[in-house]
Amino acid sequence: MSDGTDQIPEQVRGMGQGDYPPPEKSQLDEGSQLEVLYDKKFVCPLCQAAFTSKKIRSRYVKPIRIETDFCQVFSPGDPNPLHYFVIICPKCSYGFFEDSSRIPAHVRGQVEKVVGDWRLSHTKSFCQERTLFDVIAAYLLALTLADIIHENHINRAGLNIRLAWLFRAQKDSMREETYLKEALRHYEQSYIHGDFAPSNTSEMQLLYMTGELHRRFKNYREAIRCFSMVVHHEDKSRYRKFVTLARDQWTLAREEHKQENDGKTDLTEVAKPH
Ligand SMILES: [Zn+2]
Repeated sequence: MSDGTDQIPEQVRGMGQGDYPPPEKSQLDEGSQLEVLYDKKFVCPLCQAAFTSKKIRSRYVKPIRIETDFCQVFSPGDPNPLHYFVIICPKCSYGFFEDSSRIPAHVRGQVEKVVGDWRLSHTKSFCQERTLFDVIAAYLLALTLADIIHENHINRAGLNIRLAWLFRAQKDSMREETYLKEALRHYEQSYIHGDFAPSNTSEMQLLYMTGELHRRFKNYREAIRCFSMVVHHEDKSRYRKFVTLARDQWTLAREEHKQENDGKTDLTEVAKPH
């Protein structure tokens, strides 16, 4: 099975995966550590403070592989753009990201209470280089706030899957599973509510991700149903690489399902990809 590295669609950039294709090695050599990590200007959506926070120039970091749920894997010690995805305001500790939804007026008081409490136990600046402990704390705050402000499902799926990938990198499969399940739940809700357009996620991409997470949880019927919807989607000629990925994972899901059932049951009632 391909790990998808050679097949990654340009459209995954909409999911915050960074620049693609990654730069050639010669370009990486030219970029120093200082250039990889840079200060970007932000305005806090809660207190309106203007500040800078570290970001990674993703064109200067090259993943060693990209997995079938688009998780980018970096060499140990290399900068990881996921570490700087969540931004924490240095003045009020509000946690957000670049596609965050606005804060509804009726929950501002609740938001201020949460970030005020969080600030008591997180006094350091999150705008400089971060430890993994800082990174995870930032994601957990952002997830809490996302619930309070009724962040759209596609963005909540994005936060959860990124946190799952961070735990995958730590080989913490229990926590990885916890956040992958949440990501899957929000991808499904996003499809139902149709809230994925603002973040430039195509319906085919959303269906592919839903199918792939179902496959990882051994929900083979649901996985195959989603892959089938990708392969037969009306936009299939526009997003051909998702069709290729979905076909590969459809075949894999059928094989895995067969193995799980000692070859006794085949999902023959589900149409074959064509
Ligand atoms: Zn603020």
